[in-house]
This record gives sequence, C-alpha cells and structure tokens, in this order.
Amino acid sequence: MLSIYLAGVPNEKDCTVDFEIEKGMAMTTHDLFIQGKWVPAQTGETFEVMNPAVTEPIAQVAKAGERDVDDAVRAARKAFDEGPWPKMLASQRASVLFRFANLIRENLEEIAQAESRNVGKPISDSRDEVGAGAYCFEYYAGAITKFFGETIPVSKQGFDYTIHVPCGVVAAIVPWNFPFAMACWKVAPALVTGNAVILKPASYTPLSALFLGRLAQEAGIPDGVLNIITGPGSTAGNALVAHPGVDKITFTGETATGCTIMKTAAEDIKRVSLELGGKSPNIVFADADVEHAARNSVMGVYGNCGQDCCARSRAFVEQSVYDEFVDAFIDQTRKTLIGDPMDDATQIGPMVSMHQRDTVRGYIELGQKEGATLAYGGEILTDGTYAKGSYIRPAVFTQATNAMRISQEEIFGPVLNVIPFTDEDEMIRQVNGTKYGLSGSLWTNDLSKALRVANQVRSGVLGVNSSSSVFIEAPFGGFKQSGIGRDLGMNSLLNFTEVKNVFIFLGDKK
Ligand code: NDP
Repeated sequence: MLSIYLAGVPNEKDCTVDFEIEKGMAMTTHDLFIQGKWVPAQTGETFEVMNPAVTEPIAQVAKAGERDVDDAVRAARKAFDEGPWPKMLASQRASVLFRFANLIRENLEEIAQAESRNVGKPISDSRDEVGAGAYCFEYYAGAITKFFGETIPVSKQGFDYTIHVPCGVVAAIVPWNFPFAMACWKVAPALVTGNAVILKPASYTPLSALFLGRLAQEAGIPDGVLNIITGPGSTAGNALVAHPGVDKITFTGETATGCTIMKTAAEDIKRVSLELGGKSPNIVFADADVEHAARNSVMGVYGNCGQDCCARSRAFVEQSVYDEFVDAFIDQTRKTLIGDPMDDATQIGPMVSMHQRDTVRGYIELGQKEGATLAYGGEILTDGTYAKGSYIRPAVFTQATNAMRISQEEIFGPVLNVIPFTDEDEMIRQVNGTKYGLSGSLWTNDLSKALRVANQVRSGVLGVNSSSSVFIEAPFGGFKQSGIGRDLGMNSLLNFTEVKNVFIFLGDKK
C-alpha cells in the first residue's frame, strides 16, 4: 500500500489516501511544505505530473508563485535567525539525521515506486538510489562530529582558531534525472551543518522530494528548517534565487541555467555552488581487457537512459582495438533489457518525457547529417510495452569526430560516439576539447599509463578500469563549465559553511 498526502485537508488522518500500488494509477495531489505545514499555492494553481512509461498524468502538484517563495524564505529565515536548529550541538543534529535516514529506509519501497513512476527509472535503480539517499543522511550525520577547525600560530601574543558556521538560508534546486538522490546530496549536508533549507525539485519529477517533507517532521526537524516548494524554474526558481533572504544557492542542472543563476546571485553576492552538464570521455587503450571494458561501458553511457551528467558519451578507442570494442559494445547493448520501469528485470526505461525523447532523436538525425555512421539503434520504440511511453533504442555512432556537434553538446540521452585514436597526446587534447569537464573513464592494464593520462584529463572525477566514479564519501563536481564547488564527501560540508577566524589576545605581558 502507498500512502500519499492530499492537498488542503485539515489533519493528518484526512491527509492520507491509501491505494494499492498494483492497481497503481490513482491521481494524487500535493501541496507545498512551508513552516512544517502542507499548504496549497496562494493562487490555488497546480500543475500535472506525468508517468513517462505510459504518458499519463499521475499527480497534481501545487504551482508555487512569488508569494509562496517569499513565505518559504521567511519561514527558513525565521528558523535560522531565531530557531534552535543552528544552535544545537552537532551531535544533536546528527541524531536527527540518523532518524531521518532510518525513516527513508522504512519508506524505501514507497519512495522508489513513486520515483520510478515519475521518472521512468527502472525500479531496481530507484531502490538503489533511495537507499543511497538514506546512506547520504547517515554519512553526514556521522561526518559532522568529525568536521572541525584549526588552531593557527599567529604573529601576535594570543590564540587563533577557526570554526565552521552555517551559511544561513540555503536554496537547493535539483534536476529531474536523479530527483531523490540529488535532493539528499544537498539537503543532508545543508541541514547537518545547521542551515535552514528551501528545496525546489524539478517540475517533471517533484514527487520523491516531497517525501522528505513528510519524513522531516517525524525525524524531528523543527518547523521552517526544511521547506519544499514545487513550481516552474523560470518563475518560482528564479524568485528563490533572487530573494534577498537566501544566503546560499546549491544547484544541479543545465550549464545554461547555472549561468543564469550565477548572474542573478551576483546581485547580492550569494554563495553559489553549481553541478552542471558533462560530455565525458571513455578512453580505451589497446592493452586493456577490451571485451571487459566494452561490457562495462554500456551502462556507463546508457544508465538512466543516458540522462546522466556523467554519461561517458564519447568513447576514444585505440585504432587497433576499435572494431573489437565496437562489436563487443553493440553485442552487450543488444542484451540490455529496455522495458517497463516497474519490472525488476528492466535495465533501461523510457526517457523522462516525449520532449526529451524527441530532442535525442533530433541529435541522432544530426549525427547522421554530420557524417557519423549510425552503427546501432537510435529508433523510437512504439510496439507493445513501448506503445505509450517515451522509449528510444540506445544508439551507437562510429567514425564520429570530436569536432561534431554530437561530440560537443550534451545530448542527455542514450547516444555513444566512438572516436578512433592512434596518438595519446592528440587523444588527450580531444578529450579535453569540450567546454565540459565532469567525469570520465579510462581502461588500461598499464599503471603508469593510467596515472599519466588520469593526471592530464581535465575533469572533476575519473574512473580507471571502472564506469563508477561517484561515491557519497568522495568529492563530486566539475571543472570548466561543468560547475563550481563539490558535492559529497567532507568537501560538501565546506559548501554549506563559512569559515570564521577568531583571535584571542592574551596581553602584552610575557
Ligand atoms: P535545468 O537546468 O533545466 O533544471 C534544473 C532545476 O533548475 C529544475 O528544478 C528547474 O526547474 C530549475 N530551474 C530552471 N530554470 C531556473 C531558473 N531560471 N532559476 C532557478 N531555477 C531554475 O536542468 P534539467 O532539470 O533539465 O536537468 C538536466 C541537466 O542537469 C543536465 O544538463 C545535466 O547534465 C545536469 N545535471 C548535472 C549534474 C551534475 O552533478 N553535474 C547531475 C545531474 C544533472 P523546472 O524543472 O521547473 O524547470
């Protein structure tokens, strides 16, 4: 059974409707979470949220406007300026976050089901991501009591030390590709460091983030410390970024949006951290286990249907093993199950929307016009299970060049360009020859080569003989136009704090 809050009803008992997941498609409505209460948008407006596997509406969600954003910021401001949360001991906030993590785990299946219905993400991925969200709360609950300042020997008689203090009111704006995970990546470290937070999920995928509001109260987060507003980025998101009551913006999304946000934030020097787009390389040297590299590269680009900022969408393959790699990669792609996201066996679901699917299809046609060879896939799927959903078959382009638009622009879909190379230095120049610098992989059995190349690739994260490079415990973020700052790991605690230096004068007496 799935319990979902309903809008505009007076008490908790009335707020919940139960229905059977198996029967599934009941429409739900959702309010904004402000000052510990569920409230409709002041205009009463809502917007529809879809299930991309069948292109049917599954929920109506409150459409926040400027006045709602103002209410949320005021609530957060009050909670930060006057409330107990920032003054609590780190260990007390840690206890609340541990409870929060337990509650996420207790509700894991409900949240994962909501996520898969809303994003089109395979249910096994959603379960993993919600579990990782819970672990993120645990990690930061544990980390905060190991996060401390320094004592500094200064040039005057006295005692000098630093402490980390919360930024204040944090606006966390997240995208639609990993809605629950991204929300946790930002909310957990922001809360544990003593900030008050306003979370704005993407309009395509707001449902899983709203669970955080439900669980916050039960975990013991004081009213106003976590607020959640849903509504368009161009209005509600922009109002949040421009609001003078916000001290810090943490954003994940497109590079163009990050650029707009940074400009707006510059007006009053808000703190900004940005996790933006990518066009990541997958470098395969001839001395690697090519078959293994090919098999393990498939989900490195097609995972989440390619809607992944880390998608290794440019494969640079040494000429002598080019054909071997392409054949093994296509063979493995053929075996990958595309299907209903609610099926445990599914590995690739639909794209988040018909719009996104059509954008990707447009890029596939562009690649053909640019002269790359479409060696596999790329067609829109319309039969049987796929009839009503935004499904597309993953595509492989061979004989692509790095200069093509399909190699330079973030397609954000399941498209791989395989580019041959013979010279290592020239390959590295091409790898670094985009505006992005987020992620990547390289495959070799030569340790010196791995170290040499890893040092030269201009990206924030890199996997050697692995398609993984994102861990809750390790810093994640981009070089160049892939972003500013780092999420995850201990670095994220720096994202949400200011360093204060205190000097205590001990007098002139020797
Ligand atoms: P967008 O930039 O379109 O949107 C991200 C969020 O910003 C959404 O909540 C959106 O709201 C909001 N938003 C849009 N415009 C504004 C604005 N002017 N002011 C404030 N908020 C705004 O990205 P997508 O949702 O399309 O996500 C895909 C992008 O995210 C890809 O480019 C991908 O590379 C990037 N990404 C980066 C990651 C990283 O860590 N580097 C990780 C995951 C994704 P609304 O939905 O209502 O428009």
